[in-house]
Order: sequence, then structure tokens, then C-alpha cells
Amino acid sequence: MATTERDYYELLGVARSADEGEIKKAFRRLARELHPDVSDAPDAEERFREVVEAYEVLSRSETRELYDRYGHAGLRSGGFQPGTFDFGSLSDLFAAFFGDDLIGGRAGRTRGADLIAEVEIELAEAASGVTREVPFRVAVPCTRCGGKGAEPGTEITTCLTCRGAGRLQQVSRSVFGEFVRTQTCPTCGGSGRKIESPCTVCSGAGRVIEERLLDVEIPAGIHDGQQLRLSGEGHAGAFGSRTGDAYVRVRVLGDPRFVREGDDIFTTVDLTMTQAALGATVTVPTLMGTEELEFDPGTQPGKVVVMRGRGMPSLKGSRRGDQRVLVNVVVPRHLSDEQRRLLAEFDEHADERTYKADESFFDKLKSAFR
Ligand SMILES: [Zn+2]
Ligand SMILES: [Zn+2]
Repeated sequence: MATTERDYYELLGVARSADEGEIKKAFRRLARELHPDVSDAPDAEERFREVVEAYEVLSRSETRELYDRYGHAGLRSGGFQPGTFDFGSLSDLFAAFFGDDLIGGRAGRTRGADLIAEVEIELAEAASGVTREVPFRVAVPCTRCGGKGAEPGTEITTCLTCRGAGRLQQVSRSVFGEFVRTQTCPTCGGSGRKIESPCTVCSGAGRVIEERLLDVEIPAGIHDGQQLRLSGEGHAGAFGSRTGDAYVRVRVLGDPRFVREGDDIFTTVDLTMTQAALGATVTVPTLMGTEELEFDPGTQPGKVVVMRGRGMPSLKGSRRGDQRVLVNVVVPRHLSDEQRRLLAEFDEHADERTYKADESFFDKLKSAFR
């Protein structure tokens, strides 16, 4: 998808000095005006995309700073990827950006319901990204009646109770004045239609339940509990209205070898007393397999080795986290007589210097002034 080259501030109609609140306000106003749900203008969708992109960049301080300094080129080299999301409905959008419900739920559209499924993946799969077949039980339009609910060849007439409106208005008077209450027509359930002979497959519902397998691409770097949205893969709406969305909640299983913290991975490695003293090369597990790590003679317990870029990929950018390896030194627990004798002999030869730490930078500094 091509990035717009237009000025983001101009697109939102705000000054370069605009604060967070002003940017939010401008975006809210433009989204209400341009969202494909509400605007029929031929260029509305294109303009809406640009406005969303401008808001995505300017609403986050990291990307806004990049843009302020280096313009569009700065964003591209910073790995910014514009709008790969689906708009959904206007209320979805506002819920996503502002956490509010603009239309108030009852917009008069009977959009199909969303559905959610859960998949479990291994930590190593979360590191590399993986495609999973996810089963869904989803309502789809009935093929026999074409989603209309009536047996083919039979007629659909207007509901007599609500005269096709799908709603009934009740006016009640009280000492405080007149109240108008709207309710869904109980006869037709809001469809406004009367089916003479219901379809034999769906019993007039217009929808049937189907088992469906979807290939879901799980991006590398995903965190436990995050959800992916598959736009338009939810339940079919009643009588041909818009389909809902499917959500996949991803559970990342724990791996006993690794502890994940953000994009970093922690592991421990056991060195025997002699390996730590003499130096050794040992194999450590990583998310991508195994790797050889070299330890110097005199390696101390508690030392942390940082393996750069061996952690989890970041969902947002190209940078990977690190793997931090904590050294544990194992001391012998069961000694034979011979081993005990050798260690005692070693100890006789050991002195203060044997265990002395190398001069630290601070020590060197001190001796320089002596
Ligand atoms: Zn009715
Ligand atoms: Zn049917």
C-alpha cells in the first residue's frame, strides 16, 4: 500500500504545534465526515485512509518526532507501515481508537455477530510466526433460500403488525407529558416481513451453521492473550446484512527453558565447578535452535551473557529482543574418596590470589593515585 506523500498536519487540518487533544479532536471530526459508512463521496475512502494514516503517525510521540524531523522519508527508514488494517464499521473504529461507542450499539443495522476462537502456539512459533488452521462454527447464509428464509417459489409479504417497519412505537401519556417507546416488533422479530412457508433447510432463519476451517496467519512476536481480527469472517447478518468479524485469541504456551519478558528471553546455563574455573564451551538453547557459548576461565556464578538479537521479534518493528543467559555454577554433591583427596590437595595449593577478582576499573583508578 502506498504511503501518502501529503503533509499529515495539513490532512488533519491542525497546526504543527497542535497538542494531543487537538489532533484527536480533528481526527474524530474528519472520521465522522469521511468514513465509508457515512460518506458517499467517491474519494471518501481514499481521503479516509490518508486521514487515518496521518492520525496513526501524529498520535504517537515516537512516529510524530520522526516525521517532524525527517518527514515521510524518516518514517519509511524507521520501519513505519501505514494502515494495513481494515476499517470495519465507524463504531469499531472509534472503539479501537478512543475506546468509545459512537453510534450507541443500536444503529438500526443488524450486522452479524462477531465470533471468537482461541489457538495455542508454542513460544518458538510465536518467535517465528506460524499459520494455523482454526475451526469456527459460523452462521452462513442458507443456500436453499438465498438467505431470505422463505421456501423457494413462495412469497414473502409485509408483516401486518408493524407494517414492515420492524419496530413498534408505543405512546404513553402521563402527568409529565408524552413518552414514546420503541420496541422490536414481536411478530416478525424486526425483519418487517412475513414468511408464508419457511425454508425447509433453515426453518426461516435465512442462516445455517457451518463448520469452517480458516488459515490464520499469526505474526512473529505475538504476545500471549493478543487477538487477531479477521474482518468479515464472523456470522452472517440477518437477511443479507453485513457479516460480523472473527477474532482469534492467541495463547502462547510457556516453555520451561525460557522466560519471556517483553521481547527479551531469559535462560540459565549450568557450568560445573571445573568448567567455570577452567573455561568451557557449552551448548545453550535459543528460540531458533541451539548455539555454542564460550565461557572464560574463572567465570563466576551470576554472570549474565547477552546474546544480541536472539530474543523475540518485535511486533512493531524490525528490531529483535535479546537473550540473556544467567550463569549458574554447580558444586559437586557426591565425592568419592579419591575426588575428596584431590580437592583437599588443590586447596592446599590455593591461596588468596587463586580467588582474587581481577582489578576493577575503580581499583585501577585508585592505584593510579597512590
Ligand atoms: Zn413486524
Ligand atoms: Zn433457508
